[in-house]
Amino acid sequence: LVVACGLAAYWRPDLLPVWLALLFFIGLNLFQSGFTRFCLLEKGLKKLGLRAESDHIREMAMHDALTGLPNRLLLEEHIEAAIDHARATGTKVGMLFIDLDNFKQINDSQGHKTGDQLLVAVSRVLQAQLRAGDMLARWGGDEFVVIVPGLREPKQARAIAEALAAEVQNELFSGLTDPYITLSIGVALFPDDADTCEALLIQADKALFFCKSQGRNNIQVFSDMRHRGVGYRDVDFTTRLSAAVKQRLIQVHYQPVIDARTGIPVAVEALARWQDPEHGWVSPALFVPMAENLGLIHEVGYQVLERALDDFSHCGLKDRLQLGVNVSNRQLLSKTFVRGLRDLAAHHEIDASRLKLEITESIALEGGGARERLRELSAAGFVISLDDFGTGFSSLSRLHELTVDEIKIDSAFVRRVKTRQGRVIVKTIVSLAQALDLGIVAEGVEDEETAAILREVGVQLLQGHYFGPPVSNDQCAQFMHCAFPVPRHAGFGPVRA
Ligand SMILES: [Mg+2]
Repeated sequence: LVVACGLAAYWRPDLLPVWLALLFFIGLNLFQSGFTRFCLLEKGLKKLGLRAESDHIREMAMHDALTGLPNRLLLEEHIEAAIDHARATGTKVGMLFIDLDNFKQINDSQGHKTGDQLLVAVSRVLQAQLRAGDMLARWGGDEFVVIVPGLREPKQARAIAEALAAEVQNELFSGLTDPYITLSIGVALFPDDADTCEALLIQADKALFFCKSQGRNNIQVFSDMRHRGVGYRDVDFTTRLSAAVKQRLIQVHYQPVIDARTGIPVAVEALARWQDPEHGWVSPALFVPMAENLGLIHEVGYQVLERALDDFSHCGLKDRLQLGVNVSNRQLLSKTFVRGLRDLAAHHEIDASRLKLEITESIALEGGGARERLRELSAAGFVISLDDFGTGFSSLSRLHELTVDEIKIDSAFVRRVKTRQGRVIVKTIVSLAQALDLGIVAEGVEDEETAAILREVGVQLLQGHYFGPPVSNDQCAQFMHCAFPVPRHAGFGPVRA
């Protein structure tokens, strides 16, 4: 900055006061933060008479670059004003916290450009539905906030949320057989649920969180949740999850993996499941990241591993099937992981080659000893499977750097295999795997047409609801009894040898 100012002063010494003032304000700008910073710069520019420029900066500071919508700064100003107006007129302000379900998958699988286009398209549809005086803002990522002032009753807010969700479906996804973008909307009201801007945002966010725990694609109004007894404490899933892990209440379900040629099950994948006593099944997409944030993922992973090996050792098929277990970053990096796993397998008399350790590619490619650990596991005879393959961008080019035996193509690609482009991508992954002599599994197979295409392009193993959803140990036993003529007393079932 100083150099630039010096050069400018050399070029136009007559404007020296202007250059010095600019240097001062920009320097100040760097030392201040957020909105204050922006205000100071704006005032400075105005003093210099550069009004047009300052308007442009204000515009940029208050609006989201991608969608052109107001951002958080402008939104918060607007909420304050709406609350003041509601106080004066005795009306209510509705706040709708909107999240696009499954957006991350689209972003990961089709690239950020498609994701961005989708965000713009959704924002246009939402914007077109608003009345004068309403405001739509982009909160960040795939989250939007709508402010609807002048309401008389809470149910008006719900009706507006329903209309928005329906319109997005109709406008953007009605022609698709697989409408994978839906909306989750959490609603809170002033003054019913909160009386400040910040508290209102928190309550709406809690309602949104509750939406997601209910399987997404739904609308929750905070005051309704409270009336049903689902208050602040009850939606505190983090406390509940910690308790569930401590009491070893995390369950394990099993999903079969099928040989694409013969249709015979060759493996099962063990999957962590959590049933909260009050809210029922909580989606793993929700509680697994939560466990990671709480530092509980190591414990969850270990409990699943112990339970799965125990079930597997009693299934009567441990010499015919393989058991897939998902391994988290923390588990993999733990110094005792390899030894612990070897001891556990030996204790249950399970051959290492029967254990498939599923590791996501982002973890495998990370530093911090992950690759070294993979080599150790491989040397100990365990099978290494690269999970969610394709969702990390560097995967294709760096695959040869890793000690892996198999790749699992992410369901985001499998879902698109019926399109020409989708098929080309899967074909490319398959030829790459073949060239490196790796096994290939496709996840998320939902119908026969998909299964047929995958078989044709050379995928060896298939997994998905079409062949069988994740089920409890007992149900898995029944499934396997149908697939194999095993003695009744054995099996994945409750009767132990
Ligand atoms: Mg997996």
